[in-house]
Amino acid sequence: MKTCTVKSKSREDFIDITSQVQEIVAASGIRTGVCLLHVPHTTAAVTVNEGADPDVQSDILAYLADRVPHRGPYRHMEGNSDAHIKSTLVGVSQVLAVEDGKVVLGTWQAIFFCEFDGPRTRRLHVQLVRGNEP
Ligand code: ZN
Repeated sequence: MKTCTVKSKSREDFIDITSQVQEIVAASGIRTGVCLLHVPHTTAAVTVNEGADPDVQSDILAYLADRVPHRGPYRHMEGNSDAHIKSTLVGVSQVLAVEDGKVVLGTWQAIFFCEFDGPRTRRLHVQLVRGNEP
């Protein structure tokens, strides 16, 4: 398993980690298989969505902020319950196919680390499973 570092610059942030993940897959030498991404944090997440228009990332963050406000009637004393809820809604893992030595993504897709309680230095685990190669 490989672990990479992701630095967020604001409390909420989408960070494009596509090239980081593709570099790890390329370095592994695996041509065909599965790439598991896991965020070992309770106030962050990982998702796949449009990478071409940054307004999509802003819209997703705005949608989540509207449904899950920062200051709500929460019990958790740390004051970051919204970030915990968003982490669960978006999810802390993604499973992606690897083909021809690369994670398979659609034309407009990118992999994003989702920060909900930054800025912080975060980690992302990348586990690669080799498939049946010819
Ligand atoms: Zn907390």
